[in-house]
Amino acid sequence: MTDTLPPCPECSSAYTYQVDALLICPECAHEWAAGEAADEAKEVRDSVGNVLADGDTVTVIKDLKLKGTSSVIKVGTKVRGIRLVDGDHDIDCKVPGVGPIGLKSQFVKKVSG
Ligand SMILES: [Zn+2]
Repeated sequence: MTDTLPPCPECSSAYTYQVDALLICPECAHEWAAGEAADEAKEVRDSVGNVLADGDTVTVIKDLKLKGTSSVIKVGTKVRGIRLVDGDHDIDCKVPGVGPIGLKSQFVKKVSG
């Protein structure tokens, strides 16, 4: 059970240990509640590691075939106003010309600005 502790959110050290409800990092002395760490682990990141948030604009980084249709979302397609959801396809969005669809964060890249 001790080897399931999450790494330190401050310095990514893997040598964290637990004292009651607190997790403690011996390397940078950061302390945090175990529950918070679980929330942080749920961050959704794009293909290059940017943290995504509701309302972001992303572009698709590879052609994505839509299951059960002949439609393809082309690489470079811009998708505005994404919504993060739980699940295998962790982005809910509306693709122009395609409609509402779920995308995987690993196949998109955040557009800044
Ligand atoms: Zn640390």
